[in-house]
Amino acid sequence: MTWVTGADGSPYGVTNLPYGVFRSNGGQPRIGVRIGSWVLDLAGAEAAELVLAAGALCRPTLNDFMALGRPQWTAVRQRISELLTDPAHRAAVEPLLVPLAEVELLLPVDVADYVDFYSSEHHASNVGQIFRPGQPALLPNWKHLPIGYHGRAGTVVVSGTPVVRPTGQRASAEGPVTGPSVRLDIEAEVGFVVGVPSPLGARVAADDFADHVFGVVLVNDWSARDIQAWEYQPLGPFLGKSFATSISAWVTPLDALAEAFVPAADQDPPVVDYLRDVPHLGLDLRLAVEWNGERVSEPPFATMYWTPAQQLAHLTVNGASLRTGDLYASGTVSGPDRGQVGSFLELTWGGAEPVQLGDETRTFLADGDTVIITATAPGPDGTSIALGEVTGTIHPAR
Ligand code: MN
Repeated sequence: MTWVTGADGSPYGVTNLPYGVFRSNGGQPRIGVRIGSWVLDLAGAEAAELVLAAGALCRPTLNDFMALGRPQWTAVRQRISELLTDPAHRAAVEPLLVPLAEVELLLPVDVADYVDFYSSEHHASNVGQIFRPGQPALLPNWKHLPIGYHGRAGTVVVSGTPVVRPTGQRASAEGPVTGPSVRLDIEAEVGFVVGVPSPLGARVAADDFADHVFGVVLVNDWSARDIQAWEYQPLGPFLGKSFATSISAWVTPLDALAEAFVPAADQDPPVVDYLRDVPHLGLDLRLAVEWNGERVSEPPFATMYWTPAQQLAHLTVNGASLRTGDLYASGTVSGPDRGQVGSFLELTWGGAEPVQLGDETRTFLADGDTVIITATAPGPDGTSIALGEVTGTIHPAR
């Protein structure tokens, strides 16, 4: 139980406590933690020595705090929980609560490198059927390693940032044409934020996942399917993806997700040694995609084929180093049913089956459309916690 007004019973109760960066009244960026419909100013709390984190909470991003490592992450979380539950701290802490409605939420992490995987078997299989009908849905490598590509860290933006429709080349019957994308799409994903770095040349074992990964964000990997389809061979996604990738303003620490780890999908054929994670755990995150106010899909993250620990091991098997602030996303989360897909490419089956949104129909995104991705996860004692939403509105091409 917390003494914070309205927070008990909220999906942002004291068992959640996601971290973010906010600004109020045009001031400097400050690290905060969400509790109910409030933000606890952690910079203020550390300045007042209510919580100690070697000054890392008095910074404009979470990076220095994330670099401290799991023992400190856990200690700070425990202390914050104590401050918000023990009435003895109320007088000192209550002045540091800012109403969420009065703050601007900023990009919480200075993103170092950004990688995007392709780890949902249902998504990969749907895309294979849409783009390569009559051929095997999965390419031969798919069940042997988590497929991924390096994205553009500098265009990762915080939830709420407008997304300008990208311009680029696409194929047409008369040859390539240049113009605004006409097949702008979403990808509902889950992102993992690295706190503790690793040295160049060393591998990170799957078992060391929790020592390096600080927490989880929701991701919308906006995708221009027409630009992507023309450019992607032979080197993979490029400008069809790099114009914007949105992440939630709140980073949910792994410690808040202890109840959400569940046995992951069985893998057949067996994976090679460095990809073996024991225990083999996924996360029971239940995503929802809202398109102009209508819930069009509920992607279940627990159905992912490759786990975040396996993705981390794969990302570093060649000795590539991790940096604080690295972000790796899961790939589009799609379940087995049409109502569980994480992209509109799949929802409309390549644009062939439009969806009805109120009195309008859609295949891909129109200017002015808004997409909101949310998620919940099991919390302690049958409760449920919310992950921070990721939202974006499409602005016309410039
Ligand atoms: Mn993606």
